[in-house]
Amino acid sequence: MLKCPNCQSKDLGKIGVNQYYCWNCFIELSVHKGMIYTHQVEEDGTLSSLDDLFSEQERTLSS
Ligand SMILES: [Zn+2]
Repeated sequence: MLKCPNCQSKDLGKIGVNQYYCWNCFIELSVHKGMIYTHQVEEDGTLSSLDDLFSEQERTLSS
């Protein structure tokens, strides 16, 4: 079950192939090869990575 590494919410909306949006903390998540990548949408519309905030374990998709 996919959950947000930032807020642990499971309230995720699917926005594309392997792409999700967290409705609780408003970050984008993408899943690639079992890893969760996190992005924040800045005010100017650019994406900045939040991956540095989480350990590899937190970002690994648990099955
Ligand atoms: Zn979240």
